[in-house]
Amino acid sequence: MSRLGVGMHDLIRELYPICRSITGEGVRATLRTLQTRIPLVIHEVPSGTRVFDWSVPLEWNITDAFIKNRHGKRIVDFHASNLHVMSYSAPVRTTMRLADLRPHLFTSAEHPEWIPYRTSYYKENWGFCLSHKQLSQLPDEEYEICIDSTLVPGALTYGECYLAGETSEEVLVSCHICHPSLCNDNLSGIAVATFLAETLLRRVLRYSYRFVFIPGTIGSITWLARNEQAVSRIRHGLVLTGVGAGDRVTYKRSRRGRAEIDRAMEQILKHSGEPYRVIDFFPYGYDERQYCSPGFDLPVGCFMRIPHGEYPEYHTSADDMDFVKPDALARSYSHCLAVFDLLEQDRTYVNKNPKCEPQLGRRGLYRAIAGQQERQNRELVLLWVLNLSDGRHSLLDIAERADVSFEEVQRAAEALVACDLLQEHAEPETQPKF
Ligand code: ZN
Repeated sequence: MSRLGVGMHDLIRELYPICRSITGEGVRATLRTLQTRIPLVIHEVPSGTRVFDWSVPLEWNITDAFIKNRHGKRIVDFHASNLHVMSYSAPVRTTMRLADLRPHLFTSAEHPEWIPYRTSYYKENWGFCLSHKQLSQLPDEEYEICIDSTLVPGALTYGECYLAGETSEEVLVSCHICHPSLCNDNLSGIAVATFLAETLLRRVLRYSYRFVFIPGTIGSITWLARNEQAVSRIRHGLVLTGVGAGDRVTYKRSRRGRAEIDRAMEQILKHSGEPYRVIDFFPYGYDERQYCSPGFDLPVGCFMRIPHGEYPEYHTSADDMDFVKPDALARSYSHCLAVFDLLEQDRTYVNKNPKCEPQLGRRGLYRAIAGQQERQNRELVLLWVLNLSDGRHSLLDIAERADVSFEEVQRAAEALVACDLLQEHAEPETQPKF
């Protein structure tokens, strides 16, 4: 088992007990934990702030909640699982009979052992979530109800980690931080993003990287509203979500469909040896909905393993520490890092000997190549790179056309540069690639 996978799993374990929502102390506590690992700036946006067609909601905090039976025993206890309280529940303290309480109780008949996860952000309400099995066993008696929460003007909190590279062009990585004790949905993305930032922090980078840790939907809308001008610097982006479980990767393309990030991800997955599928953009899902809204249309795809709603554990207490696996986390991390490496290293070159093929043998390009087949494959990659390096095709273009891995193409380009057959094509930095 990889050390990194275990490290990410441990970070998830540390964040798991925190009761998060779209605002409140849970989000702050989560971001403070991440601050011990990466340079994260915490932003606070006051309730009521207009953000495009939305406004920042009241801040929600909770300290306790329970349902007590007539013997005074807590039969539903917020401290046993924060999923027991519907997120954004208004405060309540009363007694009522089961029949009156029922409209405020949420269960999943399909999975009678699990506690479902419910929210009521934009309509004031209160509620409890419990297993269907427990509800079916509750006697019809009077219950004491308490939700000790506050719903008052405060702020929406998000975190931003900026890693400066050689250029001001940016790679955006975004994940949501608004779910309570749920592992694959929200904590896996947080863990992988944090570890990616930690790794990139130690590297010399060509691109600048901006990691945003935001509450879903209202967080990305708020971030976009506050950074409307700055988003023009974003060249590539990924939303990371649901990256800790499942046997294969799912990549959802950006709205543009053939943006460099889409092509880079497909290229890496195709040669990764891991099962994967690539799906087209659709205007539902996670924060790619906002990044890819027509007024922004950013080149931001969504990297997942199993998409939301496609696994029974989704939005239930079964999305727990056992559901997310260190190996899945580590593989997700590796694919994303490979994509960043590709973006960092993708270049356009010019063949310095474009009139007919140069003689490759006498330049020592086949040294240390043992087998005949290997030699032929290598020669073909060298010929592809020489042929398409006319200043108009990047290494990624060549890898796609030759149907070989980016790594092979890049190695061939390095060898050709070393023997002076290839030189980098000078491209003005400010010229957008699309
Ligand atoms: Zn969710």
